[in-house]
Amino acid sequence: MSTEITEISDELIAAGRRAHELDREHVFHSWQAQGPFNPMTILKTEGSFVWDGQGRKLIDLSSQLVNTNIGHQHPKVIAAIQEQAGKIATIAPQHVNDARSEAARLIAEHTPGDLNKIFFTNGGADAVEHAVRMARLHTGRHKVLSAYRSYHGGTQLAVNITGDPRRFASDSGSEGIVHFFPAYPYRSYFGASTEEEETARALAHLEDLIVLEGAQNIAALILESIPGTAGIYLPPPGYLAGVRELTRKYGIVYIADEVMAGFGRSGEWFAVNHWGVTPDLLTFAKGVNSGYVPLGGVAISPEIFETFRERAYPGGLTYSGHPLACAAAAATIKAMEDEELVQNAKRLGAEIIGPRLEKFKADHPSVGDVRGAGVFWAIELVTNRETREPLAAYGGSSPQMNEVIAAAKQAGLLPFANFNRLHVVPAMNIPDAVLIEALDKLEQALIVADGFVK
Ligand code: PLP
Repeated sequence: MSTEITEISDELIAAGRRAHELDREHVFHSWQAQGPFNPMTILKTEGSFVWDGQGRKLIDLSSQLVNTNIGHQHPKVIAAIQEQAGKIATIAPQHVNDARSEAARLIAEHTPGDLNKIFFTNGGADAVEHAVRMARLHTGRHKVLSAYRSYHGGTQLAVNITGDPRRFASDSGSEGIVHFFPAYPYRSYFGASTEEEETARALAHLEDLIVLEGAQNIAALILESIPGTAGIYLPPPGYLAGVRELTRKYGIVYIADEVMAGFGRSGEWFAVNHWGVTPDLLTFAKGVNSGYVPLGGVAISPEIFETFRERAYPGGLTYSGHPLACAAAAATIKAMEDEELVQNAKRLGAEIIGPRLEKFKADHPSVGDVRGAGVFWAIELVTNRETREPLAAYGGSSPQMNEVIAAAKQAGLLPFANFNRLHVVPAMNIPDAVLIEALDKLEQALIVADGFVK
């Protein structure tokens, strides 16, 4: 086995064991049946590495929930949080605070177009909730369009907007959400055989849906610029520009959800930049401060800002623009700038990840599709390349997929997996040699997947 059992003391391992016992005793975990769940203990994190409860050093190819965009324990961000904690650890949102003002300035500097006003939330789901509230108040309309095969958060409205099975338990059809089929070339809902066809047909479907639902009732359309957990399927050329055009034509607020795709992940500051599109509202979280302190927000266009110039915005949070979170955001963004991490993410995608994934596709019959940009990539595993039958059915896992994931962990990786996909989503500053080693390890899991090809 290639994993190392070093650098972790017996005391730390014993403390981890105690933490695990207490966790099973008292902690209620997200998205899990609590009984059988056996969470992994993490004893230490650094850069692109984590150490598990046995002291094994693993390469973090997941960036946790795709949020540690600049890796773990970045010294400049840790120092900024410590310094801010020594100055003002917390302050109510109605007061001016230098950390919040600076974070807002830096975010506005990088958001596309004229999205220059920033409303801070605690994370991504509440950013989505507030963006929709702004859109509803701005337009006086209620319905929201959202794509199937998407994820927008776990709170009541955000999970209803979500287009994956996590919605089902909370969906009573009462939140005013209408789902549409996204452009997804590998598994086209439109029988398209080229990207051009996919774009044209997906946009025609969307326009039909707008007309049939009644544009006068539709407040917003929300779309992940590159859908993340749902499969990192890049919109084909012209699709996002077409969505922008349709939303303008029908007076619908276009919300780009960049919670996962934003802040450098795709090799651009924001994923919409790949296609030169500016939405009316943009939601962010995760990478904005590498997730070191919970933070999310909405970047707001001048037109929507005008709606609330004289009219009070009916919403807020005790921790909106929390100084520790904002100090972490300012330090993260400055680190991204100073260390040229967005450019580095682009290079890693173009020079290392992309070519290696293409080679995986050439060498491994279980690899149906590979796609991505920057440090944001997916591998779709199939049992048959012709039929594209997934290694785990949509909405679940499978014993085969579990074996593949176990093989990746056994090889020394902390992988990110969803349904029949493995995602390659490392930090933007993962050293080249570590990334290459991680991809070598990942190939061992693909050999296991090949065993299931029919
Ligand atoms: N939107 C997208 C695109 C996401 O990927 C996520 C989380 O994964 C969310 C919203 C919700 O963010 P949070 O978990 O911070 O509430």
